[in-house]
Amino acid sequence: MDKLVSLCKRRGFIFPSSEIYGGMGACYDYGPLGVELKNNVKKAWWKAVVQQRDDMVGLDASILMHPQVWVASGHVEGFADPLVDCKQCKQRWRADHIKDGKCPACGGELTESRMFNLMFKTCVGPVEDEASVAYLRPETAQGIFVNFQNVLNSTRKKLPFGIAQMGKSFRNEITTGNFIFRMREFEQMEIEYFVRPGTDEQWFKHWVEERFNWYTNLGIKKDNLRLRQHAKDELAHYARACYDIEYLFPIGWSEIEGIANRTDFDLKQHAKFSGKDLSYFDEETKEHTIPYVIEPSAGVDRSVLAFLADSYDEEKDKEGLRVILRLHYALAPIKVAVLPLSRNEKLLPISREVYNSLRNCWMVQYDDAQSIGRRYRRQDEIGTPFCVTIDFQSLEDKQVTIRERDKMRQIRVPIEVLKSTLEAKLNGEPLDILPPGGKKWLGFEG
Ligand code: ATP
Repeated sequence: MDKLVSLCKRRGFIFPSSEIYGGMGACYDYGPLGVELKNNVKKAWWKAVVQQRDDMVGLDASILMHPQVWVASGHVEGFADPLVDCKQCKQRWRADHIKDGKCPACGGELTESRMFNLMFKTCVGPVEDEASVAYLRPETAQGIFVNFQNVLNSTRKKLPFGIAQMGKSFRNEITTGNFIFRMREFEQMEIEYFVRPGTDEQWFKHWVEERFNWYTNLGIKKDNLRLRQHAKDELAHYARACYDIEYLFPIGWSEIEGIANRTDFDLKQHAKFSGKDLSYFDEETKEHTIPYVIEPSAGVDRSVLAFLADSYDEEKDKEGLRVILRLHYALAPIKVAVLPLSRNEKLLPISREVYNSLRNCWMVQYDDAQSIGRRYRRQDEIGTPFCVTIDFQSLEDKQVTIRERDKMRQIRVPIEVLKSTLEAKLNGEPLDILPPGGKKWLGFEG
């Protein structure tokens, strides 16, 4: 974890929030590369669960919602963790995280546990009284339930169908630490998938499989991912089944996503508290039903951490240590780096031309500082799949070298096919398939 945290800080992926003031507990800021990586994770999720499916639509609900939402959902009453204080050093801990009944920091005696609600309260409007209390949402899911009828009426979707939403959630977590694994402000990617009662088990299986495969399709090693079924006594009282997708983080196996069969609990609760009809009229049976709901709920930040941890690699070579982020191409913050061999001004026009034509398509970096070897290293360390090198021969033959990150192999291609070649390679075409006029260059032996 230390290596990741230091790489993230050094290369501009993730910084502690408000660092110049000493930081803000369990809040983090995504730097120039981090915001690209995080956006790519969100894009990949949206593509898989909305863009490529006929039975899904998207939503972006507000963070502040009517306070009754959280009464109906059960959060005001029950979204709490057991809290204990250390009588000696005064630190606070989550009672269910304590192993031997003593303070993990100083070994001191702990108080009796009491429940602590994790929702952040704020006030809406100029008067701060009980009537103006609102909560920062602790999950995005409720925004979907309260819009169930709006989406149904405006899209005329038929069961089964789902609504996807991603966005910020807030939880006043008691024990934090572990970098972006547990934050007080974080992002979620959530789906509520509405089905006919009786078909819920089949859809539950479908989503568990879909969501597991999403991580492996984006490069997470199968050995580092597992499913954990919740025991009966772990399940929320309304849930029929729940699986966690766990990743082998540097801190051990921990949840990145939960998939739950929530039955008809949420829609029924909101119907009861709002007095509105939230049923679905089934044209086939001519009956009103309250759909069952399958909820795959993932954390953006935990996914980012899993992708970073899984792709981090080190190789010893004669110059020392080569650090590589072997990120899936779809996730890599920078897709291509344009590297003129030297700062010689003869190389400048052609290099800028290549750079300008590529940056239309992808996030591209231009780097002409220091030796070419060092520049390759810098790109490997941030996961850039391809470097394009422009040398003096390029002035003559109008060809450039493409060097790939993982095995450091190189091909030489005419500039006129550079963009189409990179596009094909970024879409997964093997490097040894050459474009017209291309040739294998370095690193292909063995
Ligand atoms: P945990 O048991 O770790 O507290 P949870 O079971 O309360 O998590 P859910 O309510 O199921 O989490 O939230 C769904 C997802 O949102 C989690 O799988 C996780 O990826 C993410 N998530 C939840 N809390 C946090 C947090 N404090 N920081 C970062 N991500 C979080």
